[in-house]
Amino acid sequence: MKDKLGVANLVQIVPHYSPLEAVFLGALNVCGGIVPTVYLLATSKFIDSAISFSKNGSGKNSIFLFIFIMVICTAYMWLYPLLVELIATKLENNLRKSFRIDLTTNIASVRYDYIENQESMDLISRVCREPEARASQSYQRMLSAFGLILKIGGIMVILFLRVWWATLVVAGIAALVFMVAMKGGEENYEAERLAEKHNRKAHYLSEVLQGRDAVHERTIFDYSEKVNEWWHSQYETARKIKLSASLKWLKESEISGILTSLMILGIILVLVVPLKNGALSIGLYISIINSIIALIPDLSWELPEYTEAIAEDKEYLSDLSGLLKLQHNKEWLSTPSSKVSDVESIEFRNVTFSYPGLCRDVLKNVSFLMEKGKHYAIVGANGSGKTTITKLLTGLYNDFSGQILINGIPIGAYSSSELKSMFAIVYQDFAKYGISLFDNIAIGNVNNFDEDKVYEAINEMELSSLIESLPEGVLTSLGRISEGSVDLSGGQWQRIATARALVSNASVRILDEPTAALDPISESKLYENFEKINKGKTTILISHRLASTKLADVIFVFDDGSIVEQGNYEKLMSMDGIYSTMFNSQRSWYIYGTEE
Ligand code: ADP
Repeated sequence: MKDKLGVANLVQIVPHYSPLEAVFLGALNVCGGIVPTVYLLATSKFIDSAISFSKNGSGKNSIFLFIFIMVICTAYMWLYPLLVELIATKLENNLRKSFRIDLTTNIASVRYDYIENQESMDLISRVCREPEARASQSYQRMLSAFGLILKIGGIMVILFLRVWWATLVVAGIAALVFMVAMKGGEENYEAERLAEKHNRKAHYLSEVLQGRDAVHERTIFDYSEKVNEWWHSQYETARKIKLSASLKWLKESEISGILTSLMILGIILVLVVPLKNGALSIGLYISIINSIIALIPDLSWELPEYTEAIAEDKEYLSDLSGLLKLQHNKEWLSTPSSKVSDVESIEFRNVTFSYPGLCRDVLKNVSFLMEKGKHYAIVGANGSGKTTITKLLTGLYNDFSGQILINGIPIGAYSSSELKSMFAIVYQDFAKYGISLFDNIAIGNVNNFDEDKVYEAINEMELSSLIESLPEGVLTSLGRISEGSVDLSGGQWQRIATARALVSNASVRILDEPTAALDPISESKLYENFEKINKGKTTILISHRLASTKLADVIFVFDDGSIVEQGNYEKLMSMDGIYSTMFNSQRSWYIYGTEE
């Protein structure tokens, strides 16, 4: 795929993925454009021959020849849409197999900050809505428009050779209609772009109203009516934006339609003059009039429709080109390196970082050293920069100042594949896959699959009794996506997500507050268990609940992007600083907390 795309690129994209069908469709449309002119000429000759036959009995054979040509043309015009549909379906299937995959691969490797950015996510969602259908339809529309131009051009040439001025009038009208339609198309796509923002919000709110994630809160808080109002307002805004653009376009099309019809009728009347002085034969006059009448819907509806759609395609292509211009990191598609490097040390030296487009620093002059085999905890209030540390460590962002060193070597010197193999992370918003329990864990290391490791992780995360209670044991399908699937509690899902990280060969294991579903006591238990399992390995626990970090060798206390205290539990408590204050204020959770 090229970097800059225009409508002409459709002529390259589609044939690139489905050459045979693309050429076939092209040939059909060229014939479809030429046939009406042949039909016009055959009809005019037929009428003139029929008249001369009726006058002096000559030209019988040519009458049959012209009838034969007319029948062939009619048959072609009848078969043409059927053939186009057949081939277009095949073409779309080919695009689905290749173009969509290329696009998905492309998106999978865009730089991480685009994924976290609303605008680029909107762009991606616009481009990826049935891309194969869009590409195939756009291509067909271009060919149809080309066919239509050939059709109009053929009639014009015949007309020009007899009455040149009438041709100029028709060309003028066509140009006017074309311009109005082009503008309408751009406006329509712009409206779609605006409506997209509201549609996304409406879609999200409908998920809140109907999805499973919020089912309990929906019942308890009884907010459905309120959220419904929000949903309706977003939906209505999107609908009104699109409606007003469509109405505007309809009005413009109506005016150009009426104008076209009136002017073409005028031309028909004017052509009586050349008919009278012999510049046009009766046959040609009747055929040209027929063709011009047939042109009315073409000029007033089809041409504007095509041009409007082509203008939309142009906008789509500019989006597609925008997407291709997003900076990529092809390396992200790489699998974790099979050669796992041992992480002896991780060091941050005066690291300062801000997210793209954010006007403040999220990490401010952060320095710390982590050594192999020790347990670390990063604590601090929400938004203090804890998760950002993991994003930098895994190479998702590299635009920081200061130095991040792994084994004394700057992080930039490692490939994405090497970094992936160093860290196993259980994220805050870990995924719940609707596949078997076994695969839910094994997916953590598909590239170096080791069945024994999966069972080891099952034991370590104490999942055996859960598995025994499931109808098909480890092979039970989880979630609620298919019949016979079993859904689990938040805590059980959480243990599975943690087991997924354990099957990896990574030497550093990170738990990034994967505990939203857990009460404080269960969270503490999870962390204790995690540290026990990972004895001898480097672990990093990220949490805003302090009691769970008591066992860590070193605790880093983050506040507003800086490390304000560090040391082990005893040291931090004796400092009487932020940690001990927060610890004491959270103590009540553990007294009143309940088990999972
Ligand atoms: P924590 O993990 O401590 O809750 P984070 O590291 O996730 O905090 O975030 C630190 C700060 O950076 C927060 O103020 C958050 O709003 C901001 N932030 C996080 N991700 C982004 C992003 N992609 N773009 C802009 N700001 C972000």
